[in-house]
Amino acid sequence: MGIKVVPLGAGQDVGRSCVIVSIGNKNIMFDCGMHMGYHDERRFPDFSFISKTKQFTKTLDCIIITHFHLDHCGALPYFTEMCGYDGPIYMTLPTKAIVPILLEDYRKISVDRKGETNFFTPQMIKDCMKKVIPIALHQTIKVDDELSIKAYYAGHVLGAAMFYAKVGEESVVYTGDYNMTPDRHLGSAWIDQVRPNLLITETTYATTIRDSKRGRERDFLKRVHECVEKGGKVLIPVFALGRVQELCILIDSYWEQMNLNVPIYFSEGLAEKANFYYKLFITWTNQKIKQTFVKRNMFDFKHIKPFDRHLADAPGPMVLFATPGMLHAGASLEVFKKWAPNELNMTIIPGYCVVGTVGNKLLSNAGGPQMVEIDKKTTLEVKCKIHNLSFSAHADAKGIMQLIKMSQPKNVLLVHGEKEKMRYLSDKISKDFGVPCYFPANGVTVNIESSKLIPIDISSKLLKRQILEYSQANSKQFEDQQQQQQTHQQQQKQDNSDENINNLDPDEQPFKKIRSPITQLPIQGILVAKDYQNLKLLDPSEASSELSINNINLNYILNYKIQTNNKSTTTSAMDGLEILQDRITELLPHDQINRINQSQLVIKNQVVIQFDKVQQQFTIRWSNHHEQLFSDIYKLLEKQFGEQL
Ligand SMILES: [Zn+2]
Repeated sequence: MGIKVVPLGAGQDVGRSCVIVSIGNKNIMFDCGMHMGYHDERRFPDFSFISKTKQFTKTLDCIIITHFHLDHCGALPYFTEMCGYDGPIYMTLPTKAIVPILLEDYRKISVDRKGETNFFTPQMIKDCMKKVIPIALHQTIKVDDELSIKAYYAGHVLGAAMFYAKVGEESVVYTGDYNMTPDRHLGSAWIDQVRPNLLITETTYATTIRDSKRGRERDFLKRVHECVEKGGKVLIPVFALGRVQELCILIDSYWEQMNLNVPIYFSEGLAEKANFYYKLFITWTNQKIKQTFVKRNMFDFKHIKPFDRHLADAPGPMVLFATPGMLHAGASLEVFKKWAPNELNMTIIPGYCVVGTVGNKLLSNAGGPQMVEIDKKTTLEVKCKIHNLSFSAHADAKGIMQLIKMSQPKNVLLVHGEKEKMRYLSDKISKDFGVPCYFPANGVTVNIESSKLIPIDISSKLLKRQILEYSQANSKQFEDQQQQQQTHQQQQKQDNSDENINNLDPDEQPFKKIRSPITQLPIQGILVAKDYQNLKLLDPSEASSELSINNINLNYILNYKIQTNNKSTTTSAMDGLEILQDRITELLPHDQINRINQSQLVIKNQVVIQFDKVQQQFTIRWSNHHEQLFSDIYKLLEKQFGEQL
């Protein structure tokens, strides 16, 4: 076996998450995302890497989608309906409910507004979603006889999950996006100590240790408040679902508290749909929301009203939440174009923006007025203030280290981050945890060595027999040791006759030393493999009946002649047989060695040794069932009389 990983997207990059993992002969696609920064074929992962002949269903065993963000699921209908993948797709129930809404929204922007072609249709989204199998948190699903998957809570956004996939004894955890600190509406990620062979983690904030959440929230509210007080307009580009629900809770209660009446708007009808799903999947939110929900629905906002396009030109201060979050299209970009030239206004980007989006361009030189290219035809002079407040729920460096500690992986692989930050974090992980850490680019394969341990069932008959034989063989050694010890202690007793025996070291006290339990035992049996999952070590008699074959008895005879130049050993009064008997006595208890007559010795009633004095030759007879005993005796023979030529 062994594990192979190749990112088709999110390798040393953020966006277009798609990681192909092979565990043994099973191939899993984790996430099937699109890249917000591209409008050509690069927006989707390069699926030809999986199969040049489009044999996707045959090659992949399943697809797992971690959460509804488009950079994790945006390419799914394209892959299933246009590339032809027809196998199982797994995601949580909230993800399954929300994904089609976001896909349709994205399709509308790309096709209806921008006129893009070669795109999936509304029907394709529906057909694709029909193939999805929902998985509950902590539920284990057997994809087939060998591959099983389990979902864990990831925080991040409603319905987000991390996934544990196992084949035989090898396993992988893929995090998707997650956060290790709870927020206003979701809990923090959690996983069992599953000790996977490989943990694949996101690294969006690999080098950041974010200041306290409260500090960031205060900063956010202060900036918004100051701006509207001076008559400015605040634009907050957001994803329709996720952080925005948290920010709405935050700003709505602040407005209430401060008794403010500056209007707050939320663009598009998506807000209502989003809030509907939060209510529907309330069990996925954090404890506090669940509790207050009884008294007041946290997602029914008092101060936030739906936005109408003409309001963008209305005079006076206002706050607007508008999608999409990276300012690459849609309402947020339209409004930004109108508001950006006025220095009274402000744009707060509460998340991460991928390279190629307007949001990313704004953040990469947030030092005052700037000329920003909106598209090939439009350049905009930006005079409004630009702020980035990291509210997006990703694990920071501390959180990533926490997850490693929690899950105890043997290897770590970083995706969904920037190369330089990954390099830094990778060094830190290798140093702190002593495990190998990788961060491959897209299309680069990483091979993880498999663990060499293969579990084997052992028959109780074989085990009992071997324990018995082992203890018999060792009781001789043990008795000798005990005898030596007693003699030694008796001597000591005489030497220290004045002293009380109890003053001696406890280990030295007579008869205290008990026989140590058997912790390691060499076992010899027959390994029967019916399939990979089911290996059994059996007693030879069991193996033959298990496999319905006849038990064959083979008898062997071996002649061993003492070399003439080795006469020295036999010139004494003892002959060869006596010498060998002595040696065997060191190995086995007396009652297992039977001297039949002058020239014949029988060991354990199983191996017969004869000695011809004239020829100076041993003749040994044994059967194939007593190979080990014979080989032990033969070793003694060689040790005593030299190797046979
Ligand atoms: Zn996400």
